[in-house]
Amino acid sequence: MGRVCREVHEWIEEQIEQPIEAWEERQEERCREEECNWWQLCLNVLFCWLALTIVKVIRIVLVTVGKWVIRINCEFVSFVVDVAAFLVGLALSIPILGGIFRTVLNFLMEVVWRAGSVFDLASGLLGLRIRKKMYFGLVIAAHDGIPITTQAAIQPQIDAAIEHYNRLCNINLIFTGTCNTSIPPPGDPFTYVCNAEGFFRDWWIDGSFYQLASDTCKFEDGWKRVVGYGAEIIVFVVDDVLPDPSDGCGMTFSVNYILTEAGTADNIIAHEIGHACWLYHHTGDTNNLMSPNVLSVPQTLTNWQVSVIRSSRHCVYV
Ligand SMILES: [Zn+2]
Repeated sequence: MGRVCREVHEWIEEQIEQPIEAWEERQEERCREEECNWWQLCLNVLFCWLALTIVKVIRIVLVTVGKWVIRINCEFVSFVVDVAAFLVGLALSIPILGGIFRTVLNFLMEVVWRAGSVFDLASGLLGLRIRKKMYFGLVIAAHDGIPITTQAAIQPQIDAAIEHYNRLCNINLIFTGTCNTSIPPPGDPFTYVCNAEGFFRDWWIDGSFYQLASDTCKFEDGWKRVVGYGAEIIVFVVDDVLPDPSDGCGMTFSVNYILTEAGTADNIIAHEIGHACWLYHHTGDTNNLMSPNVLSVPQTLTNWQVSVIRSSRHCVYV
């Protein structure tokens, strides 16, 4: 099932079909109450019903049938494209060569979509911020069949992220759900080293895990991660982010995933999504979401930070 197809389907229902149906109901009531004017040979009543019938027929043929024709075709195309993206993902999961290519691809996509968002960056700085959306989902690995954690343990972080991006950036941050992957994580305990070591380990077996787990867990709309447009941010829960005291990590635009731990500060996911959207640390203001010291209370972002997030390839209008 394609997410895009579902969204188009819902849009047609809400914006076109339902308003027409509401008009039909009002018209039907009007026709029932319409008095028959003898000097018009009762044609006024007839015309009323005629108008209703014509609108109903057009609505059924064009909108109700049309939305399903669009949906079926969309689902077919989307499935084919997602399968293609899955195969690309398999190639990208090959250690070293696939890893390097993945980094280059993500970098190029970042450059392309940033260039395409220059107007958005400028208008954002001027305060014009039309609602955008961004997707994120959770992937939880297991040790010997026992999941590292549960969604419930991460829920405060999920809620805080949605709240921050809605309040500060006018972004509808959409949670796509939790997936428990059966692909074994690289190591028990499952750790992520949040520095150059982690960056280069992504080119080796660790990167293969993140790629394969993302592609199998988040097959739907996987093509968006290949082309970068509206790419979903995948949140991996690890046992420990190193070096301590780090509790989360986001490697800016080189990957489509971020890392967090269970039982940590509520704003970790929100903070790491900031990194994924190319924000660096903001020092000197502990109220800032990008302060290295991540807290659990509502934070702020500067005008510039909001504009950088909104012009990220993860953040789109449609
Ligand atoms: Zn950070």
